[in-house]
Amino acid sequence: MQKIEFNDLGAQYQHLKPEIDQGIADVIAGCRFISGPQVEELEQELCRYTGRKYCVSTSNGTDALLLPLMAWGIGAGDAVFVPAFTFFATAEVVSLTGATPVFCDSDPQTYNMDPKSLEHMIEKTLQEGKLKPKAVIPVDLFGQPADFPAIEPICKKYGLKLMEDAAQGFGGTIHGKKACSFGDVSATSFFPAKALGCYGDGGAIFTDDEELYQLLVSLRVHGKGSFKYDNVRLGLNARLDTLQAAILLPKLRAFDGETEHRNWAADRYAKGIHGKVQTPVLKEGFTSSFGYYTVQAKTPEERTRMIDGLKAAGVPIIIYYPKPLHLQTVYKPLGWKKGDLPVCEHLSETVFSLPMHGYITEEVIDYICNTIQNL
Ligand SMILES: *Cc1c(COP(=O)(O)O)cnc(C)c1O
Repeated sequence: MQKIEFNDLGAQYQHLKPEIDQGIADVIAGCRFISGPQVEELEQELCRYTGRKYCVSTSNGTDALLLPLMAWGIGAGDAVFVPAFTFFATAEVVSLTGATPVFCDSDPQTYNMDPKSLEHMIEKTLQEGKLKPKAVIPVDLFGQPADFPAIEPICKKYGLKLMEDAAQGFGGTIHGKKACSFGDVSATSFFPAKALGCYGDGGAIFTDDEELYQLLVSLRVHGKGSFKYDNVRLGLNARLDTLQAAILLPKLRAFDGETEHRNWAADRYAKGIHGKVQTPVLKEGFTSSFGYYTVQAKTPEERTRMIDGLKAAGVPIIIYYPKPLHLQTVYKPLGWKKGDLPVCEHLSETVFSLPMHGYITEEVIDYICNTIQNL
């Protein structure tokens, strides 16, 4: 068995090498390193892919999440509801605006934000009366869209803005509707390890709201007005650079084929390790891009034993995420304690992710399944 990669970016490059090399060469020859024509072309292709009207490409996924919060004027005294079981950036952007993240527990089957916990946290925040509920940021964790059919009505009921954190969701669907098209606005990341990744940092924002789109375009370049040196508000330097756009264009063309392959791999894993660990559960009508293949051991001790066994057999394993956000050191002042969000706390002690990418072979999957079966 050759060395097993968790996410084999080298295999993908070998597949797409001529187009990627040509794209990079074109950017260098054209010298339009910032806001070159490839950036606009990519934004149009991303709109076509997701079904959204407007796309604003960005410097990374974190800025893609931050800019809409800035556009909405969210700040001190506001509450923004986020899952506790996600990557730190989902909550970090809330804190960066001066607002307070309010953490919600996870659905024990899909690991996504539990709509019942969301409604409970909104009611609790209203009763306490210290913070004003403003927005919700559900995350499409591991590739499966969050439960938008349940969350959208809750946002309507309480008058809250809804932003989809699709950093891991790109390529998933709900009843055929694509990730990055849910809520008022969606943000994704093109970090290299994501299902659709570039060769550095990158991200994108999607919306159907023209007014919000115009604001985001301004905020992306230092709050520009009618031209670059007319500054009408505070913004960021949050552009996607042209090289990354040129790299993403051929990767986007290959994306559906790779997603199909990851779904095939997920099926094969599920058949091969069924009974030993809990395999991913998709909600009825939902599909996943399976950017990550995350399974759950029966107990924390069992997880340690399995990870040790897999690592000894040369299988790379990553734990997404070993510490839920409400228990992170930086959020100590918010007063959360262990036991507050029991489902996600249990997940953080029992889940682990197996190698997964668009070029993983049958041989590798079967080797990993056999290793798990014999543990
Ligand atoms: C990766 C990720 C982000 C941040 O994206 P960057 O491009 O790394 O800034 C935000 N949210 C989630 C859920 C992510 O997985």
